[in-house]
Amino acid sequence: MDSVFEPDLMQRWEMTVDRLIVHAERWHSTREVVGRLADGSIGRSNWATVARRARQVSVGLSAHGITRGTRIGTLAMNSIRHVETWYGVMGYGAVCHTLNPRLFDDQLIYMINHADDRWIFADPIFRAQLERLLPHCPGVEKVIYLGDSSEVPALPANAIDYETWIAEADPSLAAWGQFPERTPAALCYTSGTTGNPKGVQYSHRSQILHTLVSGQRDFLGLSARDTLLSVVPMFHVNAWGLPFIAAAAGSKLVLPGARLDGASVYELLESEGVTFTAAVPTVWQLLFDFLSENNLRLSTLKRVAIGGSACTEALIRGFRDGHGVEVLHAWGMTEMSPIGTISGPLPVSLGEPDEATRMAYNLKQGRVPFGVDLKITAENGDRQPHDGTAPGHIMVSGPSIIQSYFRDDKPAVDAEGYFDTGDIGTVDPQGYLQITDRSKDLIKSGGEWISSVEIENIASGHPKALMAAVVAMPHPKWRERPLLVVKLRPGQTATAQEFLDYLKGKIANWWIPDEVRFVDEMPLGATGKLDKKVLRAKFAAPVI
Ligand code: ADP
Repeated sequence: MDSVFEPDLMQRWEMTVDRLIVHAERWHSTREVVGRLADGSIGRSNWATVARRARQVSVGLSAHGITRGTRIGTLAMNSIRHVETWYGVMGYGAVCHTLNPRLFDDQLIYMINHADDRWIFADPIFRAQLERLLPHCPGVEKVIYLGDSSEVPALPANAIDYETWIAEADPSLAAWGQFPERTPAALCYTSGTTGNPKGVQYSHRSQILHTLVSGQRDFLGLSARDTLLSVVPMFHVNAWGLPFIAAAAGSKLVLPGARLDGASVYELLESEGVTFTAAVPTVWQLLFDFLSENNLRLSTLKRVAIGGSACTEALIRGFRDGHGVEVLHAWGMTEMSPIGTISGPLPVSLGEPDEATRMAYNLKQGRVPFGVDLKITAENGDRQPHDGTAPGHIMVSGPSIIQSYFRDDKPAVDAEGYFDTGDIGTVDPQGYLQITDRSKDLIKSGGEWISSVEIENIASGHPKALMAAVVAMPHPKWRERPLLVVKLRPGQTATAQEFLDYLKGKIANWWIPDEVRFVDEMPLGATGKLDKKVLRAKFAAPVI
């Protein structure tokens, strides 16, 4: 069919991620990229050097016959060499598959084989783990250890240290870009809470658009004046895109290596003058424990993005009231690259005279940026009203949101092109999304939904509680009833009744859990989130 339009007279500028690092190299060349090394010391580089060494990675790959489109795994914490590797792999047109070293061997073996990773770049600290996996991964031809030869002695023939490997490569020979923007760039697997993990393959275009979308002022909004500490690991949805956003903005980038404890994170925040950081709530809990034990203050940090699981009121207050740090509560997932919503204030929410109402807005997961659209639907697929009370399945669409899983032909979207996130939530008249549950964690009691998240939020506000979790337990009459699991603060003791009394009046009576159990440790999954599967298995006896 003839087009009724004039031809596009603007440039054909393929959106490939090498453009990000080339931009940083050219326009922010001396801005620092620093990272903690294996021995705990701080290594210092800058965007120009990172770009040069990333080119050497590309040259090394092509010299060894790696073709574009080949999947290259990484098993590594956030480090300068890891950032060089990911730009080197993607710039060349290969696909960077970040593997989470905290997963079980079986899961990693599955992912490496399913992705058909041909090479793996790994931190020396994961050598023993990788050597355990490799006999089960026949497709892996070569391993590059992200260190120098002193860190990985006596390597077998198919392995080499990174510094020796790139030393020979001439960066001027790197051929970056020059392929279509819809070429795959990166691959991440969801942790597979049910069934096998599923792969989400991002394209160059989707990554660049995600960078622009999440870089908007009301979202992550980084600037050249920011110093960004990416605590969230690159194997957790590409560190939420932060190494891309930092290059686009020309921010200083700080990488914490393997040390994510409170003392080490605090040291980096202060010594590098960090203004922006991001991680899941559990990391910040560790930091706060350290700050309060040592009576310390955060002197440079201005904003923190918290997501991956719900951010508590205690964390928001801790950052805001204790240290003057603004909390951006974010929601998203692997399938969304990952940004979905962020709790940036609106005039109407900021202008609320009542502090409790302002806090209620901050506790919600937030509003969509331009580039994400969202609908909430009832069981029959009809859209639910945005009244802040009607819950629905959260469905999303946008240029950085999944269409189909990797190696799966079926579309992962509905007839209107929206992906079902598996989360349940409400949207209020101001457009703030509130997650009330994951569909698989919802408690269906007597035909109605009980929000485990809402009970957890309230129970974790009990002064004696450090963490609270609510899971569904089978029940002969109601089908399911809530069970509350509590981890107390150190040195505290409490009775079940104290917690039940605390909840009374704050939630509907029929939402009050049937039972309360206390645990010494909460089970956490590989990305630091509460693992409710383990709790359900542990407390599986039916509640009568
Ligand atoms: P997984 O947890 O399966 O490894 P993701 O890291 O992609 O996968 O996690 C996505 C899920 O995490 C979302 O579907 C949602 O249930 C949960 N989540 C993310 N951010 C938040 C948040 N701010 N509040 C509540 N839940 C969140």
